[in-house]
Amino acid sequence: MALALKEAQAAALRGEVPVGAVIASGDTVVAAAGNRTRELADPTAHAEMLAIRAACQKLSSERLTGHDLYVTLEPCAMCAGAVSFARLRRLYLARSTKRAARWSTACASSRHRLATMRPISIRA
Ligand SMILES: [Zn+2]
Repeated sequence: MALALKEAQAAALRGEVPVGAVIASGDTVVAAAGNRTRELADPTAHAEMLAIRAACQKLSSERLTGHDLYVTLEPCAMCAGAVSFARLRRLYLARSTKRAARWSTACASSRHRLATMRPISIRA
């Protein structure tokens, strides 16, 4: 999660919404990214999407089975869909919100398990 927070801070320094994401398998980081929507002029360039794309390219696979996603803010609907399509094993959130709790409940019936970590504030 520390690397995801660093990505979020780097995104903030670039003038982006401060969100960072890391994909890992155990202690091995496969990909890390921060939001780059403004830099890339791409509304889909959320940290989670960029990390998922990078991990899939690195692994030459459209699935990330057995990998976990660490993200500093609960995923939006687009990223939540990508998390599901990528078949990530677990999603760890740095912040706990009511919305995340609802998302967790929604995912409880699916193959995904949500582990909410202690809340951490991100300063932009
Ligand atoms: Zn998103």
